[in-house]
Amino acid sequence: MISSEIQIASYLFASILFILSLGGLSSQESAKRGVLYGIVGMIIAVVSTVLGEGVEGHVYIIAAIAIASVIGILVARKVEMTAMPELVAILHSFVGLAAVLVGFGSYLDPTTQSLTGADHSIHLVEIFIGVFIGAITFTGSIVAWGKLQGSIRSKALVYPGRHIVNILLVIGCFVLCFIFLGQSGTEGLLHLGIMTAIASFIGVMLVMAIGGADMPVVVSMLNSYSGWAAAAAGFMLGNDLLIVTGALVGSSGAILSIIMCKAMNRSFLSVIFGGFGSTPQGKMKEVTGEVTSKNHDQVASLLESAKSVVIVPGYGMAVAKAQFPVHEMVNKLKKEGKEVRFGIHPVAGRLPGHMNVLLAEANVPYDIVLEMDEINDDLADTDVVLVIGANDIVNPGAIDDENSPIYGMPVIRVWDAKDVIVMKRSMATGYAGVQNPLFFKENTSMLYGDAKDSVTKINSSLN
Ligand code: NDP
Repeated sequence: MISSEIQIASYLFASILFILSLGGLSSQESAKRGVLYGIVGMIIAVVSTVLGEGVEGHVYIIAAIAIASVIGILVARKVEMTAMPELVAILHSFVGLAAVLVGFGSYLDPTTQSLTGADHSIHLVEIFIGVFIGAITFTGSIVAWGKLQGSIRSKALVYPGRHIVNILLVIGCFVLCFIFLGQSGTEGLLHLGIMTAIASFIGVMLVMAIGGADMPVVVSMLNSYSGWAAAAAGFMLGNDLLIVTGALVGSSGAILSIIMCKAMNRSFLSVIFGGFGSTPQGKMKEVTGEVTSKNHDQVASLLESAKSVVIVPGYGMAVAKAQFPVHEMVNKLKKEGKEVRFGIHPVAGRLPGHMNVLLAEANVPYDIVLEMDEINDDLADTDVVLVIGANDIVNPGAIDDENSPIYGMPVIRVWDAKDVIVMKRSMATGYAGVQNPLFFKENTSMLYGDAKDSVTKINSSLN
């Protein structure tokens, strides 16, 4: 057992480690150190909480931690990089569920029943808000998980008057809160239960109303909600470290969401309120032109004659694990004196920074990996662009078709280059489910096949 003074000191130390961890995660060079700080901080947090005064049933707690750790290690080892967003979404749902359970547990806890006056009211408000945020996070994250996994359609589910319905439901929850505050003992359990059901429904509807291309913002927003749910649980349990940690996750997730909204030219409010006013009404432009294709040898000779090459990777590169042969191709082209660079879209793949992680894994030097805004203006002077397993992030409809569901999202303007090669297996659409007019442009040729296979074959045809 440790005294409360030691526990407070440990909590302070763990909080500092969490802040250092977030700081470390801000660049690729310091990310590993950041993760390490986070792990040490979490170990200190868990140990000092479990050994704290008033904690009973250590055997059960240790058994639960051991079982959960084994499950966590097995899942984390097995999960493919491409399935990481689904894992993150489902983990957010656990935080939401935990906040709901802590809320109910805290309401039924006989020791908190003895609170009176303002203390009692404040505690009940903490419970109500904590359960409300937790339930929205829980069901919203499950829907996000389904959409990312493909078991729920990624298309936005919108119906007229949905915002009014959502607002009425939130007002209903306010009314229930006032009734709940007036109940004595555990008589408010029914009101808490009804509110949980309403909040769960709101969580489902908010995320269902968000279309495929906006999902990256939803994932980071649910990350933020899970932080606020944890902070709310911290208030209910009177645990300062949980409040600090939850606030860190909540605010950093909110900042990331705002940055992503800016990158995608979406209004933050529109995304948090479930696609407010963002649904196009008319029909999308008809795509004209013919699709042409090239084989590996033709692409290799095009590359041989090019002076500058830009590679735009997307989700398909991650699926095919093509980053290693891609690096080999870059080395070959650079040896021949060509300028080779990467153009990275902020939401390429299925995770913020997904492409950067893959390229770092294959040891591609950071200095040739440029962001969308850094590369876009150079594309007109580029000989060949290789689009490897990307689709939505290079869709010209986002710029010139007001009725496209991804209209307004900034994209990499690959079609400005002299020649564009798109490597993918078929003419299938990308995550947003939108046809891509790029494939029909005169300067674009398709190279069909698995990206890893295609790049390996090009490599063997290159000198
Ligand atoms: P897309 O999902 O738009 O397109 C990927 C393309 O890769 C598909 O059209 C597919 O075509 C192709 N592909 C799949 N497997 C292979 C393979 N083995 N070899 C070659 N090609 C393959 O991906 P983008 O990266 O262009 O865009 C990301 C999309 O995901 C955006 O809409 C974004 O909003 C969304 N998103 C992003 C998140 C993030 O945080 N980054 C999170 C959630 C969603 P085919 O089947 O013909 O091969």
